[in-house]
Amino acid sequence: MAAVHDVVIVGAGPAGVAAAYLCHKNGLTYLLLEQGKTVFQGIANTYPEGKNVYPSKPKECPEPFFVEELRPPDKPVTVEKYVQYVQHFVQHENLNVQTEVAFENITEGRDHLVVHTDKGNYRARKVVLAFGSSIPKELSVYGDAKMVAKTVDDPKKYIGARTLVIGGGNTAADVIISILKAKREANDNQSVYWAHIAEKFDVNKETAQRLGEEILLGGNIRLLPGAVPRIGEVDEEGVDRLVMRINEFRQSDGIEIYHAMSFPMKNVIACIGSQGPLPIFDKIGVQTIACAEGVCSVAKEGDRLILLTAEFESTRKGVYVVGGAISPSYMKISAGSILEEKHPNLIYTAINDAHHVVEAIRKKLA
Ligand SMILES: Cc1cc2nc3c(=O)[nH]c(=O)nc-3n(C[C@H](O)[C@H](O)[C@H](O)COP(=O)(O)OP(=O)(O)OC[C@H]3O[C@@H](n4cnc5c(N)ncnc54)[C@H](O)[C@@H]3O)c2cc1C
Repeated sequence: MAAVHDVVIVGAGPAGVAAAYLCHKNGLTYLLLEQGKTVFQGIANTYPEGKNVYPSKPKECPEPFFVEELRPPDKPVTVEKYVQYVQHFVQHENLNVQTEVAFENITEGRDHLVVHTDKGNYRARKVVLAFGSSIPKELSVYGDAKMVAKTVDDPKKYIGARTLVIGGGNTAADVIISILKAKREANDNQSVYWAHIAEKFDVNKETAQRLGEEILLGGNIRLLPGAVPRIGEVDEEGVDRLVMRINEFRQSDGIEIYHAMSFPMKNVIACIGSQGPLPIFDKIGVQTIACAEGVCSVAKEGDRLILLTAEFESTRKGVYVVGGAISPSYMKISAGSILEEKHPNLIYTAINDAHHVVEAIRKKLA
């Protein structure tokens, strides 16, 4: 059976990469798991193209950046440059990363924790959860094949395929524009279907203009308003497919007649947004506390905040949570009291959390 790692880290954003690097430097055995194709996938997916990255630091925080190597430069660089720099850094340091592995759950082993993923289980003495603040939603359809929200990392993948994009907002429109552009450049006039559960699509003027341009340049787009994802099924050839009901005619005798289209899941992009990490906290059984009136200044009344020690350990022993996953605030247990602690969602906080956690783990495992 595979060895027990000192630390398994989930999510390779600034917090996870910093934690891995510090484990590496301190001689702890570790494994960094990332669901995207490369490290910093979360940042690559969420920043607009060409956005500058700033080494922002909250005024009230006296600490320096504890991992100078990952600090964005003072003279801001674009997100593409910063991500590329970090990828080289991870390669150069030879950090132990496994990509395209999605975290699912944590269970207890005899004297260790077991981290469950879609690619198998990993054993660890300590687990650091650094999966950020936006967790892709699952498309709720019946059946075996599940669809998770996706963005487009490489629009060229859809050349030659009839593609379905689900979602009625700017993100979906942006995805369609990038696919139409890739298809146009490759002289591919296969359609892109744009499905939305409501009758009206809702995009801003600037996005609509760019989309209009692509259509005028020959973009082949088919609108499917009022289309509902119904079933995720595996066909007889073993292909995961999504069945969309595109219109329906209710008869007075109770019979429904409808049209449906079935797409291979690999040609489906669901821009259905993301959610906070609360469902994961509930699933792994770490305690959260609802903010009562007048108790919290960042969170609103009724918001549930994760309960952590000053060292970022959750109520599950050995499970630490850091970075964007605990922003914009969490409940900190210290000196016998529990108080809301502000936690700005910044690269600075993510990196420094990792430093504090690895220090704490190092002492515990010594
Ligand atoms: C548009 C935008 C601009 C920003 N600009 C700045 C800036 O200029 N300066 C600044 O300091 N901050 C900025 N921020 C905030 C900063 O990006 C975040 O604070 C930081 O990325 C948080 O780091 P993290 O490691 O906690 O999470 P993330 O960077 O979100 O990384 C989490 C990683 O975990 C992975 N993951 C998620 N779920 C799973 C799973 N189930 N299994 C495995 N892996 C998983 C994700 O793919 C991702 O790679 C910006 C944020 C946005 C959205």
